[in-house]
Amino acid sequence: FFLALEGGDGAGKSTQVEALAEWIRSKGHDVVVTREPGATPIGKRLRSILLDVSSAGLSNRAEALLYAADRAEHVDSVVRPALERGAIVISDRYIDSSVAYQGAGRDLAPTEIARISRWATSGLVPHLTVLLDVDPATARERFTEAPDRLESEPAEFHERVRSGFLTLAAADPTRYLVVDAGQEPESITTVVRHRLDQLLP
Ligand code: C5P
Repeated sequence: FFLALEGGDGAGKSTQVEALAEWIRSKGHDVVVTREPGATPIGKRLRSILLDVSSAGLSNRAEALLYAADRAEHVDSVVRPALERGAIVISDRYIDSSVAYQGAGRDLAPTEIARISRWATSGLVPHLTVLLDVDPATARERFTEAPDRLESEPAEFHERVRSGFLTLAAADPTRYLVVDAGQEPESITTVVRHRLDQLLP
């Protein structure tokens, strides 16, 4: 079973990934927690290129391809092997982040970005994608460290990213769960657990 968590910066994805992993493990499943970008040795190098503020000016298409390269490596060396041995994989970000950030955010065609990702992953799609939806201004208040290259983008960029995510979720309600990420973390976990209870093997 493959679960992806998506959402803007500061939506609280990593807190939810940890809470959900603990709960699924407590049910006796083998759980692999992973993330994009940067889950593999090559991915870590790509992540540092992508997030460093010194990469300001990186071309939009090059940026999209670097995220796709990270994802290809991630799927080939982490996600597929784990799914093949029967583990439950939880990924902090996946294809939708590219469609929202590099597509809606940067103004590249979302369908083209989705196509690149489809190729990069040989069509691997999560069984469920949880979108933690939060107003970017609220999310910003949660930042504790110096903003990375993307977090430094203007508010309008983050508004476009948010709309990009919501458009994806609206197009396929059976594969998405949209949760108001302005709630307390425990309430968010409860909503997601409820949905997973119906889906997990
Ligand atoms: O989720 P995390 O904060 O680790 O993501 C790293 C950064 O990469 C974030 O600032 C996010 O905005 C950005 N990102 C992106 N496009 C993606 C995935 C992540 O711009 N496809």
